Amino acid sequence: MLELREVDTAYGPVPMLRGLSIKVQPGELVCLLGPNGAGKTTTFMTVCGVVRALRGKVDVMGRDMASLGTENLAALGVGLVPEGRRLFPSLTVQENLRLGYDAVSGRGPDFQPQLDKMCDLFPRIRERLRQAAGTLSGGEQAMVALARALIGEPKLVIMDEPSLGLSPKLIDEYFEITSEVHRRGTTILLIEQNAEMGLGIADRGYVLVKGRVAQEGPARELLSSKAAKSLYL
Ligand code: ATP
Repeated sequence: MLELREVDTAYGPVPMLRGLSIKVQPGELVCLLGPNGAGKTTTFMTVCGVVRALRGKVDVMGRDMASLGTENLAALGVGLVPEGRRLFPSLTVQENLRLGYDAVSGRGPDFQPQLDKMCDLFPRIRERLRQAAGTLSGGEQAMVALARALIGEPKLVIMDEPSLGLSPKLIDEYFEITSEVHRRGTTILLIEQNAEMGLGIADRGYVLVKGRVAQEGPARELLSSKAAKSLYL
């Protein structure tokens, strides 16, 4: 569903991703880990087509990102959860979710049932539908950002450090919901710094260091591997 093959990117003259190869197969939850500055957000931006690959290939849902714009991802069944949530702060929660829905369905008629589904999955959202998104707590905003990505029933969800800034209790709740979404059949690429939590719910993982894969394998093996731990801690 998603594949990067030997991808290089750079910010001006500074190389960032260096021959990065990762793959996410249908039904998997794959966790991409790495220390600060390893290139995790750059990987997210490259997968979305915001940062262009200078070399190599980026395929998402069988399409080459060299010719596919970011704006087409939602309609192809890809939900994005960017770092920092990126909600529209002056719009209500419901309006933010409506935008996520419209991006997929082109103003389809079935918004209300989908909204109800999201409120069942995130009970905290139901009481906040008419509140401006910018006035929500960080944890509530994180839930809305995930609900906005899920409301169009994507096949693949790509999440960039979604647990950043959440309290330990909310992190538990957030990862439990993410795991439930995966159990219901959604494929997920989870980019995370919280290795224990990320690998705790993932099938496989990659450890990214200085723009390339330093280690990869089944999540359980990476969790117990001392070598992997020394790379991501
Ligand atoms: P963190 O966990 O700290 O968010 P990260 O692994 O997500 O780190 P990136 O955000 O991908 O790392 O950044 C990797 C490197 O590229 C960093 O040194 C960063 O300063 C640099 N970088 C990121 N975006 C740009 C940009 N637009 N222009 C120049 N340099 C950039």
